Amino acid sequence: MNRHTKIIATLGPASQDKATLVALVKAGMNTARLNCSHGNYEQFKGMVDKLREIEGESGKTILTLLDLQGPKIRLGEIAPEGILIKRGELVTFWTGKTVNKGRIPIPYAPLTRILKAGQPLLIEDGLIRTKILSIKGEDIRAKVEVGGLLKRHKGVNIPDSALPSSETLSKKDHADLRMGVLKLKVDAVALSFVEKAEDILRVQKLIARWTKRPVFLVAKIERPKALKNLREIAAAADGLMVARGDLGIEIPGEQVPVEQRRILAMGRELGKPVIVATQVLESMTNSPLPTRAEMSDAATAVFEQADGFMLSNESAVGKYPIKAVQTLARVAESTEAAINDYQWTQPIALTPTKDWMHDHHMAKEAIELANDIGAKALILGTHHGYTARAALRMRPSLPVFIVTPYQETARLLHLHWGVEKILVHKGPLRSDEVKAFLKKTKTVKGTVVYLGLQGENRSLVVMGI
Ligand code: ATP
Ligand code: MG
Ligand code: MG
Repeated sequence: MNRHTKIIATLGPASQDKATLVALVKAGMNTARLNCSHGNYEQFKGMVDKLREIEGESGKTILTLLDLQGPKIRLGEIAPEGILIKRGELVTFWTGKTVNKGRIPIPYAPLTRILKAGQPLLIEDGLIRTKILSIKGEDIRAKVEVGGLLKRHKGVNIPDSALPSSETLSKKDHADLRMGVLKLKVDAVALSFVEKAEDILRVQKLIARWTKRPVFLVAKIERPKALKNLREIAAAADGLMVARGDLGIEIPGEQVPVEQRRILAMGRELGKPVIVATQVLESMTNSPLPTRAEMSDAATAVFEQADGFMLSNESAVGKYPIKAVQTLARVAESTEAAINDYQWTQPIALTPTKDWMHDHHMAKEAIELANDIGAKALILGTHHGYTARAALRMRPSLPVFIVTPYQETARLLHLHWGVEKILVHKGPLRSDEVKAFLKKTKTVKGTVVYLGLQGENRSLVVMGI
């Protein structure tokens, strides 16, 4: 089958020998990402040369994407085995240039000025967490709240503080960009921590000075400012990346899925590809199988019409880089097939079945009426839950209160979507009775629409409470 969704894999120690690269391409990797935060020219040159060979041998097109570090604070040099820090432990970070034994290096001098005691200092997309206790000279004392293994060059995040902005391209970024464009001849460049269209245009101009060859520029969306300027950034860039790692720290994690949708929609509107990145199949870094939730998240992105995915740890340092690409390809394929087969992009048809026929039509009318008159709430009187279910599956946008004579019905309806309150009223569901009951219980005040069905007696009543 022809897969539409593209797969980008970050290359690293786990994926740099020729055999692995051949297998990754065979598994479905369309683009190889070279992350300037971690690798160097020699390593990248080796990877790119091999990829070019594989292109020749396989006849497949494999793009190379150079990811610039951008203004991000990172840990400095740490021995390959890493430093294990444990919860409750007191640690010292060191912002000086040289190695200082017993201290964890963060070679970014302004940090001691930016930070304040009491602030959190997070590492590796927030996986490891510490709290600042005090700052003295080049030392930052902190208490470990969530421990873990610190590895060299992992990202450092300090939420809510004046971080370095995207104003100027750092010396390193400038040198990396030049190396990537002129020596490695990469097809694409990803810009980290973009905040506005100008950040893209500046790099475009720089590249144009060096070469006539077009280079595809991907804007990584990972800052609140970028979300604010999303349209101008999308217009200036050639593609977008939902960089969920840093984004999930700079805005509350639970907002990332919503922003992902918005970024994907913006990309489609402007015809720019959007890549969903970070923790796509994270557990496959150490496990040959992903979690159900990871597969579901990936499938959701396919339903949302993402252009592609990017793997990070999974392919760069994971134990199963090839399996990760294969798994992602399979999830994409089966979801794409479902989109074609079942027209998932169409609204669900809410046709009534025979035993709910009345409930369905009455519920539809009740919701429409309530919306039209701007009612405060929709009140559903129900014996066994049919009326309630018929209305709730329509996902009414106004508050819904349910009144039932039976405790059992009340309990079971709690599992349904969107119920504000379920009240037990041991009596007939006649509108005058219900009105008095709602008044007495002070459930709601104002104009409401009441729908109650009991056998032949149906009431659809507008009432003031
Ligand atoms: P970014 O914020 O740019 O995503 P990252 O630190 O999250 O940076 P990823 O590219 O997502 O890095 O890669 C995941 C991990 O793989 C890195 O943290 C690093 O440990 C490792 N890695 C990536 N590329 C290389 C490389 N070229 N050489 C060594 N290790 C690498
Ligand atoms: Mg990042
Ligand atoms: Mg990352």
